[in-house]
Amino acid sequence: MRTALTYDDVLLVPKYSDIESRSEIVLDTALDNKRTLALPIISSPMDTVTGDVMASTMAVNGGLGIIHRYNTPEEQATIAGIAKRIANTIKRKDANLIGAAIGVSGDYLDRARQLVKAGVDVICIDIAHGHHILMQKAIRDVRTVVGKDIHIMAGNVATKEGYEDLCHWGANSVRCNVCGGSICSTRIQAGSGYPGLQTLLDCSTSEFAGKVPIIADGGIRNSGDIVKALAAGADFVMLGSLLAGTGETPSETVKIDGEIRKVYRGMASREAQMAWRGKTSSLEGVATTIPFKGSVEPILADLEKGIRSGLSYSGARTVGEFQSVAEFVRQTRAGTVESGTHITKVL
Ligand code: IMP
Repeated sequence: MRTALTYDDVLLVPKYSDIESRSEIVLDTALDNKRTLALPIISSPMDTVTGDVMASTMAVNGGLGIIHRYNTPEEQATIAGIAKRIANTIKRKDANLIGAAIGVSGDYLDRARQLVKAGVDVICIDIAHGHHILMQKAIRDVRTVVGKDIHIMAGNVATKEGYEDLCHWGANSVRCNVCGGSICSTRIQAGSGYPGLQTLLDCSTSEFAGKVPIIADGGIRNSGDIVKALAAGADFVMLGSLLAGTGETPSETVKIDGEIRKVYRGMASREAQMAWRGKTSSLEGVATTIPFKGSVEPILADLEKGIRSGLSYSGARTVGEFQSVAEFVRQTRAGTVESGTHITKVL
């Protein structure tokens, strides 16, 4: 049986560095040959993460937000139009890209048509098990509807074979990792999944790596995980829980024991399924509340500082350079304990 590794199993070996200031590091990463993100961070298409405010905030900070699809095509297109207008009004970075998600059945083509009309740049074909015949058909049909200039992101896949098939089918970028998200219960419910970092390590050996961006999605808990994901071959990371609980999310605010909290829920949780389709199928996510975090902007700024620091520990000025010099070691359980803060209070 093969062994598959994930984030806590590994560390990056520090390397000689001649970087005197972290501002020398350039994080600009191409999404395709005409779109570049200044910050390689994408927000998840979840109804407690990305609506108009999160999408426009991600855009003006150099990242990308993928507006969730758990409403009518008209509502989603209106949200996308608002996000695009705000992003254009307060444009700070070169790009001001807006993305939005669709499924692979029902109204998905109408949704795609309306979203493109509303100004989105990226259509994300968003299903849990993306290595699927319905994905193949959806990419083909969506391409016909949206034309060649719209970026099609697709996923999720767990394996190199999945990544390569989606590339062959015409995806412009692929969301990699299945069942590793913080709110995911698929591995408990279905026993299926693949450790997240291993998906990236496997996909990075493909001939498509470097041509069709790999998006590390799910299970990323801090900037250290982002750095490991980039080192393992990801071009971008997609974040749910790290951005959840902020003021820019469209999620409900609740007060529990006097504390202000916000809902964060998996889209396959009972709560989310009941809210968007009034019934449940397999329950593969959970719902929770998390303390209100304030604005997402300082969080993005902190993540960016962590990424710059990570590259500088390897002496790399770009993500590409980082991927060529990065060296992982596997750590033991004792190493994992040492890697966390572990001061002991001794009286
Ligand atoms: P997080 O950043 O670890 O919180 O993971 C967020 C990712 O989890 C999303 O981008 C999706 O890929 C995935 N996801 C969202 N909802 C569900 C769910 O209900 N079950 C499993 N995975 C989910």
